[in-house]
Amino acid sequence: STYDVTASPLEGVAAGGVVLSFADISDREQAGQIRRDFVANVSHELKTPLTALMGFIETLRGPARDDEAARERFLEIMAREAERMNRLVSDLLSLSRVEAEERMRPGVRVDVAALLRTSVQTLRSLARDAAVEMTLEGAEDAAHVLGDEDQLTQVFHNLIENGIKYGGSGGVLRLVLTRSERELAFRGPGVRIDVIDRGEGFDPVHIPRLTERFYRVDNHRSREMGGTGLGLAIVKHIVNRHRGRFRIDSVPGEGSTFSVMLPMA
Ligand code: ADP
Repeated sequence: STYDVTASPLEGVAAGGVVLSFADISDREQAGQIRRDFVANVSHELKTPLTALMGFIETLRGPARDDEAARERFLEIMAREAERMNRLVSDLLSLSRVEAEERMRPGVRVDVAALLRTSVQTLRSLARDAAVEMTLEGAEDAAHVLGDEDQLTQVFHNLIENGIKYGGSGGVLRLVLTRSERELAFRGPGVRIDVIDRGEGFDPVHIPRLTERFYRVDNHRSREMGGTGLGLAIVKHIVNRHRGRFRIDSVPGEGSTFSVMLPMA
């Protein structure tokens, strides 16, 4: 897909950000190119951990066969590489599920405030391990949207995990739920969820490409953090399927805000 990127100062959101909405490319040629790029990317992403695994297997069979300490160390690295492949395949499956059907069935009533409270609980220990303090505002009362509970949970998990990963240790990650009678993004009652970190942020030139599969601001850093490069692509598709909007703002050196706006049920 391509993104209709429009600079639009939204109600209550600092100007200078970019709104992403999503228009499908009808051009078949371009779709074919995108598919070929995708297959090449997936192959490369899978081949990297596989090559590492094969190298370690050879080493364990040969030079390191009788070296107990080396064996332990290599097995640990191998486990990590296998986990990375596992995450990648899970993310690919999620992505293909949410891409298959761009417009969702009506769905059921989902309380996103309750989902957020649960997500915070689930990810609390991950945040603690990274020395990140997580706060949740505005989610005391129910806020209903029509949709898919598992998918919306995945949206919140991906954004919160990114906030923890890239938000800088010692920092605060704020989750803010806001209701508005007339959400400008779709001229009706809406719920907005902002995930706000005080990490290092990134140059806004990256914003239009961040939701592309495998696009990363800092390839090396993201891999080191165990990222698959698919998280924001999954978020984009799920929000799109819920007829919502997804917005990214960032100020280098100050932090980033990822906002999801959903129509209220
Ligand atoms: P990854 O698995 O690499 O984290 P994502 O699709 O979730 O993939 O994110 C894409 C890229 O966007 C990341 O590699 C990172 O460069 C950047 N990014 C995402 N969230 C943040 C954030 N909160 N702060 C800074 N950079 C971020």
